[in-house]
Amino acid sequence: MAQPFRVLMVSAEADPFVKVGGLGDVAGSLPKALLALPQDALGEYALDVRLVLPFHSVISRDVAAPEPLLTVQIPRQDGVVEAQVYTSEMTGFPVYLIDGEPISRASTVYSLDSYQDAEKYIFFSLAVLEMIKALDWKPHVFHAHDWHTGIAVYELSRRRHQDDFYREIKSLFTIHNLPYMGAGAEKVLPEYHIPPSSDHRLPWWGKSLPLPMALSAADFLNTVSPTYSSEILTSEFGCGLEDFLRSRASTLFGILNGLDTQIWNPADDPFILRRYTSENPEARLTNKQALLDLLSLAPGEKAPLFGLIGRFDRQKGIDLALDALRMIAEIPWQAVLLGSGDPVIEERARDLEREFPDRLRVVIRFDMKLSHQIYAGADMLLMPSRYEPCGLAQMIAMRYGCIPVARATGGLKDTIFDIPDLSMSTGFLFKEATPEALAEAIRRAVVAFEDPTGWERRQRNAMEQDFSWSRSALEYYRLYRLLWL
Ligand code: ADP
Repeated sequence: MAQPFRVLMVSAEADPFVKVGGLGDVAGSLPKALLALPQDALGEYALDVRLVLPFHSVISRDVAAPEPLLTVQIPRQDGVVEAQVYTSEMTGFPVYLIDGEPISRASTVYSLDSYQDAEKYIFFSLAVLEMIKALDWKPHVFHAHDWHTGIAVYELSRRRHQDDFYREIKSLFTIHNLPYMGAGAEKVLPEYHIPPSSDHRLPWWGKSLPLPMALSAADFLNTVSPTYSSEILTSEFGCGLEDFLRSRASTLFGILNGLDTQIWNPADDPFILRRYTSENPEARLTNKQALLDLLSLAPGEKAPLFGLIGRFDRQKGIDLALDALRMIAEIPWQAVLLGSGDPVIEERARDLEREFPDRLRVVIRFDMKLSHQIYAGADMLLMPSRYEPCGLAQMIAMRYGCIPVARATGGLKDTIFDIPDLSMSTGFLFKEATPEALAEAIRRAVVAFEDPTGWERRQRNAMEQDFSWSRSALEYYRLYRLLWL
């Protein structure tokens, strides 16, 4: 008989309940992928994976079909606040949704009000700990994600010394976005009777911020790519926590995110005109022409078509792409930029569109369908990120035979192979975060593009890589087991 191995996934968001960004993809896909691992990978264990989320007001009750389960009490300075726990079975494994006044008060998943967000997620974190005790369901691994769940990890480590129930629970804290640490929490923590961290290795300002508190308290840490896990040990990427993180290097791991290969599948994508596989990447030409047509750009079989899809944020280096495109005006490129965010970056993108009205389209909105069409029709994806914990867009692009031209950082460096050996090359990388370096990489890519046989080889290499969640899930499972060695 296999023994149960219990994992609780604790996250602010998870697809299909609620998704704002990549975190929602991971927390939604990873439980499913863990539960789909073959028995021979699990040894003598049977996985029992559950997920807990805040019951955000944006989660549709019709979709989640929540059943009330129990109520727990969270002490606050001015009295006790109740948290209601619901369950949902819509995903085929148990999902708990936690409600309560600090959660229902917020109309969005994240807001601009840092105090409100801090209270919401501190309340959620405490309620999760009370919930597992009330359920008498003791996870082997408490797997928490990003600052929103940091106080759960911190309080877990304190309660281990005070309460037998928590004593043996191990914790893994996954960093998806280091710069977001939970500002605003400093004022909320005393209201919920939570002392600052006493870890002398933390900088003073980190002792009452959820993310650093969790980094100090968790048994194991990981980031969402191997390269990012070493980059955060440097002052360029460490956000002031690099010295502390170096002290934890032996318990800091890197595991790449996977892709939902059902959603992102060029052989069966309802949004694209011509479906294809790595056997016939030339079929993409039909999609390219359809895309150019849709964007009212001239049909341009020979001219390379660049795509860029992402948040218009300094992180993503959109400004580098805009300047680089100007620098390579002698190349007859065409390009489409899809994204939204920082109004200054949006305006700079529109300026470039006015400069190159015959070649460039800037689409400022979130448009899932158009994103599929760009991945399936553009020749190259530009991704000049200043930092990139993992990055999904480059993996999607490769799966669609759209060759990435990307900065050699974080997950981009781990997933894209820029090597002279054509039998393994999948894209183009550049080092410095400058328009010149990007322009140089694009020039290299355009030279390669002019050799159709070599290009197709590169496309096949890119399309045939395994970006599925099953590989990453196995790595997570191994890490969980390592916690118990
Ligand atoms: P991050 O999570 O940092 O925003 P990722 O590359 O990991 O960046 O994931 C971004 C995801 O969001 C990709 O699936 C990308 O296709 C999608 N995306 C970003 N902006 C848009 C947009 N404007 N319209 C459609 N999809 C978008």
